[in-house]
Amino acid sequence: MSNQVRIDERVLAFLSKPQKLLINNQWVESTTGKTFAVENPATSDVLAQVSHGDKQDIDKAVRAAREAFDNGPWCKMTASARSSMIWKLADLLEAHTEEFAQLESLDNGKPLTVARAADVALSVDMFRYMAGWATKIGGETFPISVPYTPNTRYLSYTMKEPVGVVGQIIPWNFPLLMAVWKLAPALASGCTVVLKPAEQTPLSAIKLGELILEAGFPKGVVNIVTGFGDAGAALVEHPMVDKVAFTGSTEVGKLILQGAAGNLKKVSLELGGKSPNIVFADANLEMAIAGAASSIFFNQGQCCCAGSRLFVERGVFDKVVEGVTKIAKGIRLGDGFDPSTQMGPLVSKEQFQRVCDYIESGTSEGAKILAGGKTLPRSGYFVEPTVLTETSAHMKVVKEEIFGPVVTVMPFETMDEVICEANNSEFGLAAGIWTQDITKAHAVSAKLKAGTTWINCYNIFDAGLPFGGYKQSGWGREMGKQALDLYTETKSVCLPIS
Ligand code: NAP
Ligand code: MG
Repeated sequence: MSNQVRIDERVLAFLSKPQKLLINNQWVESTTGKTFAVENPATSDVLAQVSHGDKQDIDKAVRAAREAFDNGPWCKMTASARSSMIWKLADLLEAHTEEFAQLESLDNGKPLTVARAADVALSVDMFRYMAGWATKIGGETFPISVPYTPNTRYLSYTMKEPVGVVGQIIPWNFPLLMAVWKLAPALASGCTVVLKPAEQTPLSAIKLGELILEAGFPKGVVNIVTGFGDAGAALVEHPMVDKVAFTGSTEVGKLILQGAAGNLKKVSLELGGKSPNIVFADANLEMAIAGAASSIFFNQGQCCCAGSRLFVERGVFDKVVEGVTKIAKGIRLGDGFDPSTQMGPLVSKEQFQRVCDYIESGTSEGAKILAGGKTLPRSGYFVEPTVLTETSAHMKVVKEEIFGPVVTVMPFETMDEVICEANNSEFGLAAGIWTQDITKAHAVSAKLKAGTTWINCYNIFDAGLPFGGYKQSGWGREMGKQALDLYTETKSVCLPIS
């Protein structure tokens, strides 16, 4: 504990303030005046009191976003001015890296080192990438030939227009990064936003709101309402919202679809996963073992694309299991502010209980624990990195998303068999393939029903690379040029010119 990083004075100052809602560029209390406590999952101490926004606050925020979209200066600004503002936000975020990393570690539990190098750095990059797109969102021209007006020539083209007011609902596993994945393409496209952070981890989004004001975004362009699922549902149902972008559980994703039906608002969904990670006998095993372990244990396993089903070719099964087990046993759990910590706590008591229940269900169905399986006898929500073998396709631990540091390892004999087993899931978010046979790698990738396949690597993210799910893992792609499709409508324009 002696090496523990001290909390930055600026973070302490931020935490000591009442955390309010950002509506129309004003920090306001919730209509009811209610607040809720946000805790540090490494200690279960209360970090801050946050405004408890509800339906009424969502309505105020949506009206502000509507006005800003329909009449505000935002919709009249040039794409270049919008781009500069997003770029400025990126610069501000980068300059405040340490504060954001600390807040993220305190609120979510993840190691500070990870928050700096992954969460904040990727967020800065995403803003810059999307700032670049703001000036490049163009349409096309078409040489149309209309059979019933053969003597007329037309000029026809498409324009990409912002979809309008967007409701964005995000989870707690990468609180800042999820906010930025949503905000950056929406702002680049010219939309206005109401953002609803997860109740467990609202702090970095509120802090980002401060920078949004500092960057000079006009009033109503970004509104942030902290609260619970009912606030999310009110946003989804609001008739003045044109589009909802959601990241979270598949279960809530299905509710979002129902809630959005009223005005048939556009919906994009980034949902759960149960991603297969396939190790062939001809893989570089040292790399594959390290990759398999980090694919599931990174971020305490709280990743939608976690490599939670590890399939290993029979001939190297024992060796890979031994290697992953050894890594799992060696991972240092602790407070995110301790520089030697490799894994923090789970995000909340609820999530801790959920993961413990899954481990229990696995063993009761016959799984064998080779590493972990226990909690730490200290305050906070620590679950050991857990390796389960002797599992089979029908078990809950193999079928359902655990969202914790728990991997099931299963042997396979043939390529066809493992492709079939890998695809035997209602999810289709990501997959890993480990082999030195390049033809096999591409052949397997082509047959996997997953939005991303990583070959001889895992968890590689870039602002330019689309990310999203097949099957029940979601609708649409975030990041990359494709993310702009989520926030734009296409208008076809046609006029006779001769
Ligand atoms: P969740 O319930 O899906 O929450 C995600 C977001 O949706 C939160 O902001 C949540 O608000 C909000 N929400 C909840 N109910 C809503 C509703 N009826 N209408 C609109 N918005 C609503 O996820 P969770 O409960 O935090 O986690 C449960 C499980 O979801 C995890 O164990 C994991 O399996 C999965 N999950 C997946 C991802 C992913 O990236 N794919 C991320 C997180 C969780 P509040 O939380 O503030 O109430
Ligand atoms: Mg928290």
